Amino acid sequence: MRCHYCDREAAFAVEKDRMKVGLCEQHLRERMRELADAQAFGALPDGLDSK
Ligand SMILES: [Zn+2]
Repeated sequence: MRCHYCDREAAFAVEKDRMKVGLCEQHLRERMRELADAQAFGALPDGLDSK
């Protein structure tokens, strides 16, 4: 599986809108940082299913 954001091999698969998308390590970190920022502002990003 390829990373959703670049052409590298995906190291992780995450579910987004009930679809599985691949993320390489770098983009996973960026995504996590985005989520953390969004939560700091009190807004839940789309596709985040907290379990
Ligand atoms: Zn990537």
